[in-house]
Parts: sequence; C-alpha cells; structure tokens
Amino acid sequence: MQQNIYLLGAPGAGKGTQAELLAKKLGIPQLSTGEMLRSARLEGSELGKRVAAIMDAGKLVSDDVVIALVEQRLCRPDHQNGVILDGFPRTIPQAEALDALFARAGRSALKVIAIDVPADEIRRRLSGRRWCTTCKKTYHITDNPPPDGPSCEGIGTCRLEVRSDDKPEAVEKRLQTYEEQTSPLLAYYRGKGAFYSVNGTGKISDIFSAVMSCLSA
Ligand code: ADP
Ligand code: ADP
Repeated sequence: MQQNIYLLGAPGAGKGTQAELLAKKLGIPQLSTGEMLRSARLEGSELGKRVAAIMDAGKLVSDDVVIALVEQRLCRPDHQNGVILDGFPRTIPQAEALDALFARAGRSALKVIAIDVPADEIRRRLSGRRWCTTCKKTYHITDNPPPDGPSCEGIGTCRLEVRSDDKPEAVEKRLQTYEEQTSPLLAYYRGKGAFYSVNGTGKISDIFSAVMSCLSA
C-alpha cells in the first residue's frame, strides 16, 4: 500500500532527522524541498542563484517554484510506493496544490504528523546544527554528533558547515515566517482526518518511536 507521510513542524523541530529515520525504516524516499533548494545552490544553478537571498533572509521561496519541484519529484518511479514530505507544504496554497496533485495522480491520503518543540529549544538546536555539504546529513554538535572517523558516504570525513540560514537573525525571521505562513496548516490538516501530534522534545529514538506509533494507529 502506498504510504504518504507529511512531517509538519517549525524550523529545527527535527523533521529532517525523523524523515531520514522513517525513510530507512519504511524504504520510501524523503522529499525535502529545503534539501532540493540547498542542492540547487551548491550546484550554482539558475534556481539556486534565484533562491539564495530569500533563504538566507529566512523567508519562503515562492509557492510556484516549490510546487513545481515537488510535482516533478512525485512523478518519479521510485516515489510510487509512497513519500515522506519534509518541509513541504509550508503555506495553505502549497497544501491545496498538493491536494490537487494527489487527486490527479490517485495517490493515497496523507498521514500528517505534527512535531511540537518550544521556540527556545529550537533556538538551541539551530545554533548547534551542522550539515555536511557532501552527503547532506544533518548533525548537532552535542546532541547528535557525527560518527568518529570515516562517515561521509562511507568513504571519508564529513565536511560540516553551519547553514547560512541558521544565523540568529535568520532563525528569528524563520520562526516568525513559520507562525505566520505555516502554522495555519495545523488547522487545515486537523480538519481533514489522519492528523497526529507528537512531543518533539527528548531523545531522537523516543520521538521516532512516537512517530512510528502514529503510523500504526
Ligand atoms: P528540521 O528539519 O525540522 O529543521 P532537523 O532535523 O534538522 O530539523 O533538526 C534540527 C537540529 O536539531 C539538528 O542539529 C538535529 O541534529 C538536532 N535534533 C533533531 N532532533 C533532536 C532531538 N530530539 N534532540 C536534540 N537535538 C535534535
Ligand atoms: P528548516 O526545516 O530548518 O526550516 P528547510 O531545509 O526545510 O529548513 O528549508 C530551508 C529554507 O528553504 C526555508 O527557510 C525556505 O527559505 C526554503 N524552503 C524550503 N521548503 C520550502 C517551501 N515548501 N516553501 C517555501 N520555501 C521553502
């Protein structure tokens, strides 16, 4: 059966961390619009150049751009058994566009899991977040450190960087953007059926267990 899962939460709530674990466990791909946009920037593509300043300012890239990225991805053969959406949708128009895409493609209904983390914990997490520009994995300097020794795609050492949008000013703007444009999705999806909420504080493995319980509910 096709399993379509959407992780909803503020920046730093742990969506990417949980999505990666889910992808491994369920054998279905993670679709992260943030990751796709960061890859476009690393490649120096036209799209990457267009979105760089918007991302670094903590604002949202336009709905049309991200909807087109998701539409292309969902058509791929390896996305037909399901998908784990991480960071999309982020606005009501994006959610409506996704509903239309799902209806057109005859995909199974989304299971929505909201991950709830207080703002101060988010600030703490984002100040210690590091990502590898080669394998794209995300770590935290104290809470989720990279493994000792070779780890990057099994062949070398990760090249860890601070994301340019994890600077304190950009984090504050992203939290505000989340409140204004993304948090209305909580009510949008709560009214639609398969909606679950998990406490996103505590150990990564405990949160993962809570997420898995939602899926079997
Ligand atoms: P999001 O994708 O929602 O922005 P991430 O998965 O990138 O969030 O997590 C944000 C930061 O917090 C990362 O540095 C990650 O390693 C760390 N992190 C994720 N889950 C936890 C947790 N349960 N406790 C502590 N740190 C966490
Ligand atoms: P986080 O989960 O830590 O907020 P993401 O990696 O999901 O970060 O997104 C990073 C940035 O990429 C966002 O702040 C925004 O500028 C852009 N972005 C990602 N997904 C979307 C989306 N669905 N709509 C608009 N902009 C997006």
